[in-house]
Amino acid sequence: MKNIAVIGAGTMGNGIAHVFAQNGFKVNLIDISESSLEKGIATINKNLDRMVAKEVISEADKINTLANITTFTQLEEGVKNMDLVVEAATENIDLKLKIFKQLDAVTDAKTILATNTSSISITQIAAVTSRPEKVIGMHFMNPVPIMKLVEIIRGYSTSNDVTKLIMDLSLKLGKTPTEVNDYPGFVANRILMPMINEAIETLYNGVAGVEEIDTVMKLGMAHPMGPLQLADFIGLDVCLSILNVMYDGFKNPKYAPCPLLVNMVTAKKLGVKSGEGFYDYSTSRKAEKVAQSFIK
Ligand code: NAD
Repeated sequence: MKNIAVIGAGTMGNGIAHVFAQNGFKVNLIDISESSLEKGIATINKNLDRMVAKEVISEADKINTLANITTFTQLEEGVKNMDLVVEAATENIDLKLKIFKQLDAVTDAKTILATNTSSISITQIAAVTSRPEKVIGMHFMNPVPIMKLVEIIRGYSTSNDVTKLIMDLSLKLGKTPTEVNDYPGFVANRILMPMINEAIETLYNGVAGVEEIDTVMKLGMAHPMGPLQLADFIGLDVCLSILNVMYDGFKNPKYAPCPLLVNMVTAKKLGVKSGEGFYDYSTSRKAEKVAQSFIK
């Protein structure tokens, strides 16, 4: 494997492109939005600068990493002659099915198609292609250049060979791949999202404020970040879609998203990426809590 296409240059896509490029792969980074591509490259640049400053990589490594990335706004052009495509576009089932149908039509039959989806069924995505054995979940964690885990999700039809290839490839990226089966939320989000949702519910019920909830979980449970701040980093829209996928998939009310989360997403308070979520990221570097003004 040498040539990798990454679809989506948002929070995850630019991180995935960064990690592949830093490890010597040629990366085509594709997004429908020119401004997302510009922002994505700027983020990679900033993260590489930080690594150079910390002497994790050299200036030459930074230059080589950036030289390994080419950007595209047209999917068909960007996925030509690729060994692997990693899709990291917006978490929306209709969009993912559309992208995979198109990928199946325009890529070589040998190209492996991976998705970074947080919760959508790999089996369902694979079913719209003519190569379900070559479709797999490659679920990187945020921030991608730092987090070691890649949750590797086998769809119902994913072959052993493809699973092994993707496990080995993740090791080459310096990651720790962990194989799981394809059920809503897989493992990471099946456990994480109910905790985040419960933290939002706790705020919504007026039991405690944003900082108090995060402090309890940080200091009491030794979590590096409180659940509300983590939700801001993940993106509240992403959290909402994952909860909805689990709610629909299991038909169990325990996954029903808190109305406060629904309201915040409707109001476009999406967390770090929109400048405001449970904390305010717009005015100063130090986030201020804002969301308790919405509680019952
Ligand atoms: P994001 O909103 O930051 O970025 C999504 C990008 O996809 C945007 O730049 C958008 O322009 C682009 N896009 C939309 N439609 C497209 C299309 N047809 N072709 C090409 N690009 C398109 O989202 P994100 O947080 O990076 O999430 C991407 C995927 O990664 C989702 O499936 C999400 O569930 C998953 N994920 C997210 C996190 C996280 O912490 N945010 C963690 C793990 C996995």
